[in-house]
Amino acid sequence: MIAALFLAALLPSPQSFRPIPVAPVKVAAEPGAAPARIERGEGQVPLLLPREEELLFDVIIDLGILGDLDVGDVTLSSGLERTPRGLPSARDVERKVELFDRAWVKAIAKGGYAGYELTQTLSASHLSQEWPRILYKDMQRGSENRERELRIGMFEGALTADYRSDRHCPGCTDHGHFVDSVWAWGDPYHCKKCKLAAHRIWRDPVHRTVPEGAVDMLSAVYIARAMVQLGVKETSFPIVDQQKVWRVKIQQGSTQWQDVPAGRFECAQMMLSAGLEPGEPKPEGGAGKFQGLFGIQGTIRIWFDAKSGVPILIQGSLPIPVPLVGDLDISVQLKSFKGTPAGFGPAR
Ligand SMILES: [Zn+2]
Ligand SMILES: [Zn+2]
Repeated sequence: MIAALFLAALLPSPQSFRPIPVAPVKVAAEPGAAPARIERGEGQVPLLLPREEELLFDVIIDLGILGDLDVGDVTLSSGLERTPRGLPSARDVERKVELFDRAWVKAIAKGGYAGYELTQTLSASHLSQEWPRILYKDMQRGSENRERELRIGMFEGALTADYRSDRHCPGCTDHGHFVDSVWAWGDPYHCKKCKLAAHRIWRDPVHRTVPEGAVDMLSAVYIARAMVQLGVKETSFPIVDQQKVWRVKIQQGSTQWQDVPAGRFECAQMMLSAGLEPGEPKPEGGAGKFQGLFGIQGTIRIWFDAKSGVPILIQGSLPIPVPLVGDLDISVQLKSFKGTPAGFGPAR
C-alpha cells in the first residue's frame, strides 16, 4: 500500500484548486450513528462513510528469507462536515443560509527507507452538489514533492473528470527560485531542477467525460466496505486514475480469521482487480498497468471485519522486482482504531 514510497525513490518527481467554502462544522457523530451514505445511481453500490472513524495500520513488506520490514504507517479516516455555501453577509441574516455536506475520507501514508522520507496524503471529498461531486487529492511531501487533483461531477449534462498535476517551474520569473552562476561573470539563473515543493506549479487541467458511476481510487475501498455491510458479493464500476479510466471488479472471497497487531478478527475478503475500461485507448508504451492505492499492482485483497466492515488487513504486491525475492508483497495491518461502529473489536 505504500508503493509510492518506493516508486518515488526510483522515479524523479504544490498549491490548490479554489478552496471549499469556509467554516465547516463537524456533524457530531452520536455513538452508533449510521454512516454517511453516498448514492452513486441506480443499481450501484453506495459508499458508506463512518462519521468519525480513525484507523491506524502498520505497513509491512515481506522480503522472503530476509524477513519482514516495517516501512511505515497508514492512517485511514473519514468524517462528515456541514458547510455554508459561500459566506453569508450581515444583511443575509434574514435569508436562509444554504448548507451542503462534505463527507470525506483520507489516507495518510508515512514512511521512510534508507534516508528517503515520504508522506503521501490521499483524500476524497464527496460533496452534495453537481460540480464537483468528488474532489480527490493526492499529495506527496518529503524527499519528493508532487501534487495531483481530480474532480468528478456533472458538467454541462455529462459526468466529467477534471485532472491536473504539478511540475517543477523552470522558466518562471520568481527570483527566489534563482541560483547564482558558478562563474563569477555569469548571471543568476532559475534553478534547473530541484525537489522543493515551493518550486512547483500546476499544469493546465485536462477535461474528459467519464462513464456513469465513476469514482476515485480511495472511494473504491469504501464501496468494497459497503459491499460487506450490504451483503453484495460482486460488483464492477469505473475508476478514474489521473486521465485514465479503469474498470474495477470487486468479488467476495473466502471468510477467514486474521491476526493483526490490533488482535484477531473474522474477516470477509474482497478482491479488487482492474482492467482497462472498454472503449478506452490503450495506454502508450508498456506503462499501461493499473496501479491501485499507493501504487499496489495486480489484485488487491482487503479483509474487512465480517460484522462491521472495518478494514483489518490489505494485501497486494508492489511493482518493484527485488533480486531473490521477486515482486514485493506488502501487507497493511490494523494496529489501533477509534470511532468504529459499536461492538467492533478483536475476538477474545
Ligand atoms: Zn520557479
Ligand atoms: Zn527549483
